[in-house]
Amino acid sequence: MKYIGAHVSAAGGVENAPLNAREIGATAFAFFTKNQRQWVAPPLTARGIALFKERCEECGYAPRQILPHDSYLINLGHPDAEGLKKSRAAFLDELRRCEQLGLDRLNFHPGSTLGEISEDDSLLRVAVSINRALEQTRGVCAVIENTAGQGSNLGYTFEQIAHIIDRVEDKSRVGVCIDTCHAFAAGHDISAPEGFEKVFKRFDDVVGFKYLRGVHMNDAKKKAGSRADRHESIGKGEIGMEPFKWIVRDERFDNIPLILETPDPTLWPEEIRALKGLAK
Ligand SMILES: [Zn+2]
Ligand SMILES: [Zn+2]
Repeated sequence: MKYIGAHVSAAGGVENAPLNAREIGATAFAFFTKNQRQWVAPPLTARGIALFKERCEECGYAPRQILPHDSYLINLGHPDAEGLKKSRAAFLDELRRCEQLGLDRLNFHPGSTLGEISEDDSLLRVAVSINRALEQTRGVCAVIENTAGQGSNLGYTFEQIAHIIDRVEDKSRVGVCIDTCHAFAAGHDISAPEGFEKVFKRFDDVVGFKYLRGVHMNDAKKKAGSRADRHESIGKGEIGMEPFKWIVRDERFDNIPLILETPDPTLWPEEIRALKGLAK
């Protein structure tokens, strides 16, 4: 089964996310459980939690179709003690929110050296951060997203992601989300069939499809290897439409949320319809 959707708004409360997803014909969705630009947010209310669960049920969204994304402020590989502490506390709060909502995965960007420490040191901090957060929660999988490698961000090679996973104690609660735009920008050129096969063969060899818990379906504004995190509507960028067809027809991408984070939300219904059509 292919679950296809977009990163929808949760403005007004998390309980609105499933309704916004149904509105665009999505069979999967992503959302922020709190304001993604703020460190602290008020806790979820009992009413919000109950309504969220009720509406997910009513709209036909099971946890495996939902991929919450954490705040952009969090850096689990932060070079200094204060920044790391703040990030770890915020990440724990995000996992707890997912737990409260009955969700089984949380998508996050691994972290950044900020140019102050080595990549290995920062990657180790990320792994320790994940271990600490998992110890204090239950049932939610920490889903590491690959990055474009812009600035000092980590997670642009499959080896770096594997390196983190290797150091996570509970392998059943760590996973990966591949963002197609980020992969392409980091130099994994999936735009032609040979490249597509090669990249995902490497992903399977280095990380393993068994860890795949979601995909961000984004075309790219810039060329392969640009290291620029610039999403484009699918079929309108440098990746083109074909690779998205290969993804929705490939059983290695079954039963996980396939999420659009494309720049024009007015196109989402159309993009979802197109992908659903290609999946058949
Ligand atoms: Zn992301
Ligand atoms: Zn991106």
